[in-house]
Amino acid sequence: KPKVWVLGNGQLGAMLTHAGEPLAINVRAVDIMTPTDDILPLAPNDIITAEREQWPESALSLQLSTHPHFVNGPVFSRLADRYSQKSLLDQLNVPTAPWSLVDDHTKVETLYQAFGPRVLMKRRTGGYDGKGQHWLKQAEAVDIPHDWRNLAIAEQAINFDEEVSLVGVRTREGQCVFYPLTLNLHQDGILMASIAPLARLDHLQAQAETMLSAIMHELEYVGVMAMECFRVGDNLLVNELAPRVHNSGHWTQAGTHMDQFQLHLRALCGIAIPQPQVNFQCVMVNLIGIDNDARWLSLPNAELYWYNKEVRSGRKVGHLNLSVPNLTVLTNSISALQTWMPNQYQAPLAWILAEFT
Ligand code: ATP
Ligand code: MG
Ligand code: MG
Repeated sequence: KPKVWVLGNGQLGAMLTHAGEPLAINVRAVDIMTPTDDILPLAPNDIITAEREQWPESALSLQLSTHPHFVNGPVFSRLADRYSQKSLLDQLNVPTAPWSLVDDHTKVETLYQAFGPRVLMKRRTGGYDGKGQHWLKQAEAVDIPHDWRNLAIAEQAINFDEEVSLVGVRTREGQCVFYPLTLNLHQDGILMASIAPLARLDHLQAQAETMLSAIMHELEYVGVMAMECFRVGDNLLVNELAPRVHNSGHWTQAGTHMDQFQLHLRALCGIAIPQPQVNFQCVMVNLIGIDNDARWLSLPNAELYWYNKEVRSGRKVGHLNLSVPNLTVLTNSISALQTWMPNQYQAPLAWILAEFT
């Protein structure tokens, strides 16, 4: 039986491994960050996937990424570079924040003329959790820093109402299946909390599915992809794409009969994919740079995923999925978390309560 090898052994790789177990899919998440001369016993019919868009080149990563069954091979580099990712969106007429490339000739005044008084530069590659961003503000009259030229794009600051994401899958046959939209709250560029599904977002579902279908078909993509969007009134603008399972899809572990990790494995292995059934509305709270607190598991509706990483400030070390069987259970749990969790969680927890009350 073929194995599924994952480039990367962070939490996403671990959760893919876990998801394979009930289906007896042997998933092996591979550490490609620690230098080694080892290579792997890959079989010709094994399948290779990735939990990240980029990885350092080594004998090991080359062995995996040059295997004939490395699924979505060319997609990773295309989406890992914001220049080619944004170009793809433009080519498909998928709405996205207006942008331009920052090169040797880019004048900061031209950016302000095109995009307005606040412009967000983003590193073309390597950025995550809001790292790799640099704001240009006309009021501050500063130039583009040297070390951002030729390495970044510039985007219009979007005055969005809120952020949503769509997680979906495409099979080899071209069938696409989606979860309901997820509402997301970011703080300092990092995802803090998600809520899904929400009836008030239903009217945006078809719009979002049309956009992500077009993208996945164009790329002949197989597996789970996530599309982060800004909601501006009734319109969605794509912020960015992730060719993998995604943090904003973690609620599906508690909320659906088939979570995003199993969905991805099913697509890779050619297993049937019915529409995932939503069993519970859910809230996901990301655990960022916070110590494990045994009290979390005393909550009647909490499912903890603890990544067993060294706790460092700003680092994702776990997430808590809270199902919403009724409003009382949810509000009691959120109130408890408000007393147990530090300051940086007060805004996200209040944001969750506000959605329900
Ligand atoms: P991720 O961890 O999701 O990969 P990232 O570092 O790749 O994050 P983005 O998703 O591009 O960065 O941006 C992070 C957050 O910054 C967004 O979720 C949003 O809150 C804010 N942001 C990004 N682009 C814009 C924009 N053009 N206008 C306003 N806010 C923005
Ligand atoms: Mg990103
Ligand atoms: Mg993002």
